[in-house]
Order: sequence, then C-alpha cells, then structure tokens
Amino acid sequence: MNHSDANPEIVKPEEEWRRELGDERYHVLREAGTEPPFSGTLLTVSDEGTYLCGACGAPLFASDAKFESHCGWPSFTRPEQRQNVRLIDDFSHGMHRTEVRCMRCDSHLGHVFDDGPGPHGTRYCINSLALRFGPSKKNAIQ
Ligand SMILES: [Zn+2]
Repeated sequence: MNHSDANPEIVKPEEEWRRELGDERYHVLREAGTEPPFSGTLLTVSDEGTYLCGACGAPLFASDAKFESHCGWPSFTRPEQRQNVRLIDDFSHGMHRTEVRCMRCDSHLGHVFDDGPGPHGTRYCINSLALRFGPSKKNAIQ
C-alpha cells in the first residue's frame, strides 16, 4: 500500500487544517507526529462513549475496545468499523510499522501492532491528540 491509495472524503488546504487544529494537533494529525508518552488527556478516560477523529469527527474507536496497555498512549483492540481507518506500511525511523490513518480525512492517528490482547491480537496505539472523546448519551444524562 502507498499514499496514492488515499481517496479522502474531506480534503482541505493544510493552512486551513493548521488554523482549525492548532499547532499541537496539527503536528500529530497532519505531520504524523507522536505526542510524548503518558502526556495524553484521553489516556486515563474510561467513560462509555466513542473516540472520534480529532480532525474530522469520524467515529473511530468505541470505549469498550479501549484497554490499559501501559505503553503511554490510548490503546484499542480494534476500530469500531474497520473501514473507517486506513492502514499503511510505514518504514520511517528504521522500523517497519503499520500506520493508522482516518479514512475520511487521511489524518495520521497512530500505529497498529500485533501484540494486543483479545481475539484479534491487535493493539491500536493512538495519539490522544489525534482523538476527541464523545461521551455516550447515557453518560451525559447521569
Ligand atoms: Zn478524520
């Protein structure tokens, strides 16, 4: 796979993304940056809800797929819907990893590793800055 596979539904000039997202989120989402481990505000969130793409708001991960991986980034066993994320071979930093991007806007989210718990064996290691948390309605009423 390579970047020419990208066919995002949402396309904006990078300047617009930068203005909307602010420098920190822009660096992670649009420049494939990585936040420092254990710095993310969503790391310790355990409420019920959905984790959305920090750039376009696409629903990406359900709270019941989140688990404590002790790796320093929010970790999920699987995306809510596989077709909402795009996986790309990443050979940067002298390693072979699999990058995870939002299918809708092609923003960088994190990486997926094959050492996860559960039947799929996958660990989606996602930057907190690449996500926004949407609490479920049930939680909002309580
Ligand atoms: Zn997105």
